[in-house]
Amino acid sequence: MATGVETTGASEVLSTLTREGKRRWICPKVSDGRFLRARRWVAWGLIAVFTLVPYVRLNDRPLVLLDVAARRFTLFGTTFLPTDTVLLALLMVSIFVLVFLMSALFGRVWCGWACPQTVYMEFVYRPIERLLGLGRPGSKGTPLARGVKFVVYLLVSMYLAHTFLAYFVGVERLAQWVRQSPAQHPAPFFVMLATTAAMMFDFGYFREQTCIVACPYGRFQSVMLDRDSTIVAYDRTRGEPRGKKRAATGDVALPVLGEDEARIGDCIDCRLCVTTCPTGIDIRNGLQMECVNCAQCIDACDAVMAKIGRDPGLIRYASQRELAGESRRRVRPRVAIYATLLAVLGSLFLFALATKSLATVIIVRGRGAPFTVMPDGTVMNRVNVKVTNRTDRPVSYTVEVVGVPGASARHEEGMDLGPEEARVIPTSIVAPFDAFSRGKASAVIRVSDTEGRFTKDVKYTLMGPGTMVEHSKSQKEDDDEEQ
Ligand code: SF4
Ligand code: SF4
Repeated sequence: MATGVETTGASEVLSTLTREGKRRWICPKVSDGRFLRARRWVAWGLIAVFTLVPYVRLNDRPLVLLDVAARRFTLFGTTFLPTDTVLLALLMVSIFVLVFLMSALFGRVWCGWACPQTVYMEFVYRPIERLLGLGRPGSKGTPLARGVKFVVYLLVSMYLAHTFLAYFVGVERLAQWVRQSPAQHPAPFFVMLATTAAMMFDFGYFREQTCIVACPYGRFQSVMLDRDSTIVAYDRTRGEPRGKKRAATGDVALPVLGEDEARIGDCIDCRLCVTTCPTGIDIRNGLQMECVNCAQCIDACDAVMAKIGRDPGLIRYASQRELAGESRRRVRPRVAIYATLLAVLGSLFLFALATKSLATVIIVRGRGAPFTVMPDGTVMNRVNVKVTNRTDRPVSYTVEVVGVPGASARHEEGMDLGPEEARVIPTSIVAPFDAFSRGKASAVIRVSDTEGRFTKDVKYTLMGPGTMVEHSKSQKEDDDEEQ
């Protein structure tokens, strides 16, 4: 894979660097065409989705709520708790494999069509700039236009930052905060300011550099793509040798040089594919890491081909194998492996989700003495029963001891838990003195809900007087031996 290097000059420089090592500002020309129109629809659809999702509720819960502070993640009406590590891990790995599969099949379709960086840069921030007469090569605009641009960018960035924050705190809480003084909630206010500043920096200054140098996805491309992956590519066989030729229609003034037009390729070297490129590369140099597959160069070139009376598609979506004149292989080892892996992971995730327990129970021995012999001769063990209600309804639980005749469990606090609430309940387990053998009694602590939908048995060893007796005996024997 080439690296977006200009090779025409005496020295090689990146597309966004001048030969002096300074930033070269990319001001891509708009090239109207079928891909731009399609991408515009997709972009506005995605912007609408991104804006509306925090307001949508499913099963009386937010569709998406990533409550990092409470470590609860609600996705499509299902809430994942910290105890759902396996589910979350399966979901994350499945998403990664899906990205690998999509990239192997369709190249960087995500980058060019759906990535928020591209969507907001090309369909929100750049259009604002153009509307104000800015963003053209060599045009700095008036101070007033630059000032208005700054204010509009700031407002849009603040709005986006609030929308972004809504995914983490919910729209209700966000609406409440917006009506209050920032001093009442400094941390979220700071997060909003930091997010706004990051967006201003990204969309106002860093721009295509995010794709070129910062995004890890772009770096992975060379390992995810193969010769059968779909990329935006220049058809060198058809286009070269490039040169000027007569326009087919009388209304286009293309220069006619003295060459034999039949011998030169379809590329007229107008460089429109370069001037429209948001990362400033020349796609005619081959597959490059900087290419985000936005298809702007396809639209630009198709318009040129129409003007000179040639077929469209000199630059087009194609695989490297197709460009080499070979037939393309849709199914190939990496695609089969990714698809199989995705099917397995997806099935495991769905199975784990369907069989997800309604509650989790953890039992920990209480602090202090391992047991207490009560005045009535019974033996008491203190345990902490941690119950997490993993349903979205209030649930009442009970604790009982089985396997030890005459044993019972008592807890002072009630065990009525709210939706998704976790609570530690100090519990006393009282067993008859004669239930212990050699200081121990094997019991089962059973936690159930009162509706009969959930029961969890946890094996637990009760400690009793035999321990002390044994300990005293062995200690005495040790002492006797020492004497
Ligand atoms: S837009 Fe098409 S014709 Fe013009 S330079 Fe690019 S590839 Fe050649
Ligand atoms: S080379 Fe074409 S597809 Fe790639 S980033 Fe530039 S304009 Fe978009």
